Amino acid sequence: MNIILLGPPGAGKGTQAEVLTKKLFVPHISTGDMFRAAISNGTALGVEAKAYMDKGQLVPDAITVGIIRDRIAQNDCKGGFLLDGFPRTVVQAEALDELLEKLGMNIDAVLNFSVPLDKLIVRLTGRRMCRGCGTIYHQLYHAPQKEGICDSCGSELYQRSDDKEETVKNRLSVYEAQTAPLIDYYEAKGLLKTINGDQPINEVMKALGAALGQEW
Ligand code: ADP
Ligand code: AMP
Repeated sequence: MNIILLGPPGAGKGTQAEVLTKKLFVPHISTGDMFRAAISNGTALGVEAKAYMDKGQLVPDAITVGIIRDRIAQNDCKGGFLLDGFPRTVVQAEALDELLEKLGMNIDAVLNFSVPLDKLIVRLTGRRMCRGCGTIYHQLYHAPQKEGICDSCGSELYQRSDDKEETVKNRLSVYEAQTAPLIDYYEAKGLLKTINGDQPINEVMKALGAALGQEW
């Protein structure tokens, strides 16, 4: 299955992707994770992406489409993939359609997470990430057993620099202006399935299962 997780920052895409990737046996492809890896590896891509990410802006389409083109061409995507955080603009969505057509592939479903704006701010500012394995936590809603330490790998948790309140607000306006139009784009293609993301993490997982015709 080729699936897109769509929704505003903080909607729970990454959290659900951690589980979906195992249930569906497909790779989890997060452009945000790819940019963060490039930053920590100190590559030229990382240096360029960081300038946009720190301001809460989108990395230019040409760069983002380029990294997805290389990633989707890899062998592990032949049996399906889970896109998280891509596409984020209509230009990216059109480029993806073109790319998949060339590869003889298509999108099976676009799972659109719906969460009210005020909840997104609380989720983003309380998010903590593991430096080692990238597991996503929340100070209130998904706290680790030992404060500041990852349950899975024991590494330190940190707050993403773009999860500070000023940047969060900018990211949410960027979402409204540039990414929300994708709801209509995929609705018109008959691929959109909207999920209530404003419920506990395991209930969201069940709703995603139902949308995909699975009983989880
Ligand atoms: P996204 O990938 O869409 O930006 P995340 O999956 O990183 O969002 O989730 C944002 C924050 O909200 C994280 O701190 C996560 O632990 C928390 N979170 C995710 N899903 C839920 C949920 N259903 N209820 C409450 N908090 C959630
Ligand atoms: P995320 O981890 O999905 O919240 O993404 C973090 C940041 O990475 C975003 O705020 C953007 O600056 C950048 N980014 C991630 N995915 C994309 C994309 N598809 N297009 C442009 N920028 C992106």
